[in-house]
Amino acid sequence: MKIEKSKELFAKACQHIPGGVNSPVRACKAVGCEPLFIERAAGARVYDADGNEYIDFVCSWGPMILGHNHPAVVAAIREALDYGTSFGAPTSKEIALAELVTAALPSVEKVRFVSSGTEATMSAVRLARGYTGRNKVVKFDGCFHGHADSFLIKAGSGVITLGIPGSPGVPEDIVKNTISIPYNNPEILEKTLREKGDIACVIVEPAAGNMGVVPPVPGFLEALRSLTSELGIVLIFDEVITGFRLALGGAQQYYGVTPDLTCLGKIIGGGLPVGAYGGKKEIMDHIAPDGPVYQAGTLSGNPLAMAAGAATLRELARPGFYQELEEKSARFAAGLTELAQRHLPGATTLNRVGSMMTAFFNPGPVTDNDSAGKSDTARYAAHYRNMREQGIWLAPAQFEAAFISAAQSEADLELALEKTEWSFKKLVGR
Ligand code: PMP
Repeated sequence: MKIEKSKELFAKACQHIPGGVNSPVRACKAVGCEPLFIERAAGARVYDADGNEYIDFVCSWGPMILGHNHPAVVAAIREALDYGTSFGAPTSKEIALAELVTAALPSVEKVRFVSSGTEATMSAVRLARGYTGRNKVVKFDGCFHGHADSFLIKAGSGVITLGIPGSPGVPEDIVKNTISIPYNNPEILEKTLREKGDIACVIVEPAAGNMGVVPPVPGFLEALRSLTSELGIVLIFDEVITGFRLALGGAQQYYGVTPDLTCLGKIIGGGLPVGAYGGKKEIMDHIAPDGPVYQAGTLSGNPLAMAAGAATLRELARPGFYQELEEKSARFAAGLTELAQRHLPGATTLNRVGSMMTAFFNPGPVTDNDSAGKSDTARYAAHYRNMREQGIWLAPAQFEAAFISAAQSEADLELALEKTEWSFKKLVGR
């Protein structure tokens, strides 16, 4: 497959943009090739600058659960566009999306819209600190909550992929208030929460997607809920990936565990920049202007973004949507598992929750950051390159999720399985 135009564009981008990209993992460093420059997308497919076509399992890192350019979403954005793009004043579109969000997530009694997942998590932690009058934040190794200072220790996603423990530029004074502990370990969790004082909140990906997909072990979320309730600690679910992905009511509906605050992003904007945080009124009422905890945003509640988000959530609320996505995802995962057993016996582990999954090049089980870290990333890189060459677009790093969208047909998934078999055979030299 020729990707000359992408290569040219990348060289040019590198002259003007650090690393040629506006988010590090996109540079494809971990998989040892140039990034593709995407020109356009439609349904389940993206098209690069050279005109090559790919079946998309990146889904813009999660948002495109309906596929690209869904007619209802496009129509909503077009309609909003005619009325103006930003006013810096409240609009009825914010209420419409807020109503959809609070109806979908009963734990979210009030919601504040922001423009990214990072803003949502950063603001939720500030709120938890303001509300409790405490300073410390507990997070889990390998979870990623965006790039705010407090989260950049033992973080997931690009931070693992680049092999850095934290980030220069984050003052020691800030991270001394962050405690990072292993995911899925209720004993360490209990010891930490009982013994360390001054804990304002625990923030968790209720099903992790940023060390690759790692589901919570039975009892982990329940232990988190009961301990935080007992100790007066705010429990924050970072549902930036899982919100509207695992169910309309997110992971909290899927697992039946209710947090105090929820962070949302990705799907809630239908492909436009939106994040949100919300939860109990009692806590949310501490935010300015009702309360003293400050948080603001010039483009927060942007009308185009609100329209795209609302149109997306309305589509997701159609009866049977999640069941169909689950059945399709389960069939695809079964196909992948069968191929892996046939061609790479004992060498891979497939973790899946609903329509998010990761095939780890790792005998497994993969239950936390340390076990995910034992994956053969060189083999993943070779697999990525094989798949891309064959028109299948995966995340350019092992520690990420592949997403199934409503736009992928059975034929698309069959084709992806065929190409996977081709790649697995090539990996073992057949
Ligand atoms: N939380 C989670 C769970 C995420 O996966 C991400 C982004 N991948 C973020 C927060 C940050 O969101 P954003 O990139 O929109 O700032």
